Amino acid sequence: MVAYRTSTSRAKEIIEELQIRHPSEICIRDIAMAQGAYVKESLLESSEGRLVRKGRKGIITVNSRIPESGRKRFAIAHELGHFELHNESQLIICDEGDMYVWHESREQELEANEFASNILMPEEIFKPLIKGQLPNMESIKKLAEEFRTSLTATALQYVKFSHEPCAVVICKDSYIKWYKKSGCFDFHVRVNEKLSPNTNAFDYYEDDFLPSEPDTVPADAWIAGTEDLDGWITEHSIALKSYGVVLSLLWINEKIRTPFRRDDDYDDGPKFDLTNPFTPDGKRWLW
Ligand SMILES: [Zn+2]
Repeated sequence: MVAYRTSTSRAKEIIEELQIRHPSEICIRDIAMAQGAYVKESLLESSEGRLVRKGRKGIITVNSRIPESGRKRFAIAHELGHFELHNESQLIICDEGDMYVWHESREQELEANEFASNILMPEEIFKPLIKGQLPNMESIKKLAEEFRTSLTATALQYVKFSHEPCAVVICKDSYIKWYKKSGCFDFHVRVNEKLSPNTNAFDYYEDDFLPSEPDTVPADAWIAGTEDLDGWITEHSIALKSYGVVLSLLWINEKIRTPFRRDDDYDDGPKFDLTNPFTPDGKRWLW
């Protein structure tokens, strides 16, 4: 856990040193240059970004084929993370998969991603913008525009700082792949399971349809171990079509929270030991 703090605190230091106060000032190429890393674009065959270092100088190459500017900025910030945190390596090449390491035990890639999120969406600037806000996808979309970040990276930062019980879930090819939750979301999402027909995300893979508004669905469609609870959960799913991915924002809102509270188990505290990285049926949920 020390490494997480290091990646987050290093990003914070840089933001403070450069006196960045507004999302429009987060020019990642200029920040990299100020740290000693020059950024250029080139065609890279099978990687998103590359870092070559010599002492305190470096060259970051970002793949010019990356279509979205948010993803490109993230790749640059990720390589800058390696430049700042992993100075034992002289050459680092990172593929697309490395940019999505939020749930695996590849420590350096995870640290580079933590650094990237916190340099592109610094807590001091991001958090006040969502203060007191009820979770909603429209707000995440607006923040992604304002910070010029990808929807996925923005949604992850959103739930990290939210005080509401919410989670972001990534599904691919009808399966729940992984998720991140806010501190007070005391449940396990059904990771590695096929989507329930009661979810909106399922409808996307079946019928290519998703409602544009949030919807209320049975909680056990998403959450493990809630079959006996007569609970509901709010789901707002959107498709990232070119990736075959559905990104779902789940939220236990005030209106639907009551059934959870009525349950005897819930009164005794969370249903799961949240320090245990495995769910009761032996699936890993925490890395
Ligand atoms: Zn990397």
